[in-house]
Amino acid sequence: MPELLIIGGGPAGLTAGLYAARAKLDCLLLERLSPGGQVLTTNWVENYPGFPGGIGGFDLMDRMRTQAEEFGLKILSEEVKLIRPETDAIFVQGDSKDYRVRAVILAMGASPKKLNIPGETELTGKGVSYCATCDGFFFRDQEVAVIGGGDTAIEEALFLTRFASKVYVIHRRDRLRAIRILQERALANEKITFMWNRIPLEIKGDNTVEGIVLRDLIEGKSSELRVQGVFVFIGYSPNTDILKGIVELDEQGFVITNEEMETSQRGIYAAGDIRSKSLRQISTAVGDGAVAAYSALRYLEGY
Ligand code: NAP
Repeated sequence: MPELLIIGGGPAGLTAGLYAARAKLDCLLLERLSPGGQVLTTNWVENYPGFPGGIGGFDLMDRMRTQAEEFGLKILSEEVKLIRPETDAIFVQGDSKDYRVRAVILAMGASPKKLNIPGETELTGKGVSYCATCDGFFFRDQEVAVIGGGDTAIEEALFLTRFASKVYVIHRRDRLRAIRILQERALANEKITFMWNRIPLEIKGDNTVEGIVLRDLIEGKSSELRVQGVFVFIGYSPNTDILKGIVELDEQGFVITNEEMETSQRGIYAAGDIRSKSLRQISTAVGDGAVAAYSALRYLEGY
């Protein structure tokens, strides 16, 4: 049995793994899909230091994984179903195996939020998407709608202009949340049309998306916009369902830690987007991962 389990293989988990493996800790990283996390769905990353001109999301995560493995980090494909602290250990139930370890780093990140409107679930994969990098290519010369006004929505809307003939950005207010540099790029892009003060009510289509019904919050009227694709970027929810009652969570479900990445449960640490914090970025996830590994190391060595 390893001494330390890292759950989740995004930037936070891989960095924790790099630090732990390099410190010769006996540790194992469990990842339910393939390592990389949400960054794998990001086409281009231009604010991670050390890469002038930017770097592809896939390439960056491939490098992080390779670097951690160079120091001996073991990565296993396994979905964790249950975590239970015991007197002298932490019990972790995977889908193929059970583990009893002394320390755990939670780095399971977050998943895209859903609109929860009619048509969304039925048409997911048939024109409704949460990943422009994965699906943008299918919308060559078509018209698509992007829902949201944050950094993700605007970055992805800009990416979609490579393929789509027109990108409607539908935002519930009249001001974007995204940072200014993204706003300026989007406002200057001729393929992007902003539709302010509107919320989506329903996604229409039989077997593929044919349109989206929008409510104009100022006029109080509803109308249908004909589009072939709907990309939803309205924020993320933490992947903390299995942690309820185990560690302290904030009102939105993110894990509360101190600056040492310690959770309310001794021996359990959290890092990256799963944490309750103000700035969720690759750079902050990487910092969290390093601190969490250092704290786990000190704990295991009896400090
Ligand atoms: P976000 O900042 O939470 O923005 C979500 C957007 O969706 C907001 O504009 C929000 O509107 C809108 N929204 C939320 N719920 C909605 C609903 N039910 N219906 C319609 N619209 C809804 O999420 P994000 O853009 O995914 O960003 C998450 C974090 O990642 C942020 O910290 C962001 O800075 C970071 N990020 C950074 C980069 C980068 O640095 N390159 C790229 C992507 C993301 P309101 O504005 O009215 O609340």
